[in-house]
Amino acid sequence: MTLALTEEQELLRSTAADFVDREVVPHRARWDRDELVDRAIVPRLGELGFLGMTLPEEYGGTPVDHRSYCLLMEELGRGDSAIRGIVSVSLGLVGKSIHAYGTDEQRKQWLPGIASGELLACFGLTEPGTGSDAGNLAARARRDGGDWLVSGEKVFITNGTWADVALVFARTGGDGPRGVTAFLVPTDAPGFEAREIKGKLGLRGQATASLHLDEVRVPDALRLGEEGGGFRVAMSALDKGRMSIAAGCVGIARGCLEVATEYATQRVQFGKPVAGHQLVQELLADTAVDVDAGRMLTWLVADLLDRGEKVALPASKAKLFASEAAVRAANNCLQVFGGYGYVDEYPIGKYLRDARVMTLYEGTSQIQKLIIGRALTGISAF
Ligand SMILES: Cc1cc2nc3c(=O)[nH]c(=O)nc-3n(C[C@H](O)[C@H](O)[C@H](O)COP(=O)(O)OP(=O)(O)OC[C@H]3O[C@@H](n4cnc5c(N)ncnc54)[C@H](O)[C@@H]3O)c2cc1C
Repeated sequence: MTLALTEEQELLRSTAADFVDREVVPHRARWDRDELVDRAIVPRLGELGFLGMTLPEEYGGTPVDHRSYCLLMEELGRGDSAIRGIVSVSLGLVGKSIHAYGTDEQRKQWLPGIASGELLACFGLTEPGTGSDAGNLAARARRDGGDWLVSGEKVFITNGTWADVALVFARTGGDGPRGVTAFLVPTDAPGFEAREIKGKLGLRGQATASLHLDEVRVPDALRLGEEGGGFRVAMSALDKGRMSIAAGCVGIARGCLEVATEYATQRVQFGKPVAGHQLVQELLADTAVDVDAGRMLTWLVADLLDRGEKVALPASKAKLFASEAAVRAANNCLQVFGGYGYVDEYPIGKYLRDARVMTLYEGTSQIQKLIIGRALTGISAF
């Protein structure tokens, strides 16, 4: 069940669904087992226009509305969250930030490559000592003539070992969020190293890395936004990123519902399909409501963005609800499979493992609640 789509939105949805069914679903179990997605998927995502969605044509983008972007994220989330994450980070967190805060030279330098998939970007905010408390990050950048020397460590960085450019947040001024500046750091610069993080619970095929920067020389022309304006860049990226995650979570929940419904109508116990047992129907019904509710909250954010309104609060609500709903959906639907849900013959176990990170990254569920609580009460409980 969904709201009416325009012809353009429906075409995009069906193109994305077709891509997922043909080029993602058949490979996802292997990518998960091998802990490596096929790198050729990146130019393919670019070829289909998925890595340039919402960006203007002059930078190689595909200018569509944000509901269309959510439709894409939902289909990619249904297929494999490891693929959804590649797009959400390279385009969503970095490409869109370059478009919003970059100079015309920066846009021309980076956006066509990001949109085509020739270049991949990563977003370096989290550090070993600062996750939720990102405004207190410790990486530093100091001026050296017309350049900056950037040093520090980042951890859990999606696309980290694959990226050609890293959006790195580093301290250039005093304590707290106002002392942070954003830099576009080419990953082949001397002193930059990305180390793969293996052994993740989910998103196993996705390249996740720690970044190590030792006096990396970055020209001032690669500073993104104002000196001291980096935290604002990061937070506005995360507002849109939370919508993207929420849409991906709707896709996870929908994927779970589809496979569990099919299984429940075929698996026979006590002389009838398990779908005929009321308690199994309850698991499916609860999931169906989660899918629809998550989508409505997510599309509200998309529509507000298209109208140029502020989305920080609705994006937190959508991300909180949809990520918790995706975990609940995967857990409920795994129950429908009985013991068969516990082995990798079916995709439900992978859905559950992949869903679990959604309540953690780009602000944990606790952080989303604090944002919502602050808006309600006017009191910051951080
Ligand atoms: C697979 C993966 C990919 C990621 N990709 C990226 C990426 O591309 N770029 C990037 O910059 N980061 C990335 N991250 C990092 C992610 O955003 C952080 O892990 C997340 O923000 C939480 O930070 P933390 O892990 O340090 O947890 P902590 O901040 O240490 O939190 C630990 C616990 O304490 C709770 N907590 C913390 N502060 C409060 C508070 N004030 N009130 C109540 N509870 C609180 C948290 O909710 C959590 O339950 C990724 C993480 C993972 C796992």
